[in-house]
Amino acid sequence: MRILVTGAAGFLGSHLARYLISKGHSVVGIDNFITGNIENIEDLFGTAKFSFLKYDVTNHLYVPGKLDAVLHFASPASPIDYLKYPIPTLKVGALGTHKALGLAKEKNAVFMIASTSEVYGDPLINPQHEGYWGNVNPIGPRGVYDEAKRYAEALTMAYHRYHKMPVRILRIFNTYGPNMRLKDGRAVPNFMMQALKGKPITVYGDGSQTRSLCYVSDLVNGIYRLLMSGENDPVNIGNPHEISLLELAETIKRLAGGRSKIIFKPLPQDDPKVRRPDITRAIKLLKWQPRVALEEGLKKTIVYFKAKMK
Ligand code: UDP
Repeated sequence: MRILVTGAAGFLGSHLARYLISKGHSVVGIDNFITGNIENIEDLFGTAKFSFLKYDVTNHLYVPGKLDAVLHFASPASPIDYLKYPIPTLKVGALGTHKALGLAKEKNAVFMIASTSEVYGDPLINPQHEGYWGNVNPIGPRGVYDEAKRYAEALTMAYHRYHKMPVRILRIFNTYGPNMRLKDGRAVPNFMMQALKGKPITVYGDGSQTRSLCYVSDLVNGIYRLLMSGENDPVNIGNPHEISLLELAETIKRLAGGRSKIIFKPLPQDDPKVRRPDITRAIKLLKWQPRVALEEGLKKTIVYFKAKMK
């Protein structure tokens, strides 16, 4: 297949592009480098199966040649990024999804939207299944991301129903691994950099809030299975192993071997108190479930961060 990946220089986009190429597909990558990093895809340049366009996908998209799938992964995705780029975040979820859908329709391609557990907001049920409508503050600081992704899902379903297009709605839960930026601002890179430098580890709130962390190779495998399935309705992809942020800080501190203190900082507004995917649908429909245990994935990620710090 010839597959377009928007956000190809980002954390997930770069892993996805590499995985698709390893499966024998050709990839056309697009990125405007707002939060993407060329180093993530450097090794793909010059290989016959990869081509790249530096472009902002909120503008009209023209890609010559056939396309079998359009995977829309472009978006700022760390809370600090959507605070810094609130309007580009809204635009890439809304206008960018519209342009990517239009391109997929033109090419008779399958369309996939990289959606998020943030569509569930600060959830009132735990774990979150795909039938849950969520609890989102539309005008809060995270609203720019949450609502853009909710709009993207609505638009994707409208194209599916009205134009009869094949679509995939992937709800991604917290993911970590190599190619995350050192200063990404999310919990795993923050705690790792702080632990490796012997600086205080900053836990927001009292650390009792929970997340469920998926290693990137597991996630990419789930994405590929969803793409190849015939499933048009949303599917959660994530690791259901739920831990508190304080536990995560202590685990990373131990694995990184530093002597950092754990300190507490104010909890950001609308920070979800719990998050854990119900992956019943992924298990049943895709025969997928994560394999990499948390400590194993964290150790691999520490190796990457150590090398990048040099
Ligand atoms: N967090 C933290 N310390 C940090 C960064 C994040 O305690 O240095 C907390 C954050 O408040 C949230 C959780 O870690 O409760 C996960 O945050 P992250 O930014 O990784 O992603 P989110 O799941 O909120 O989108």
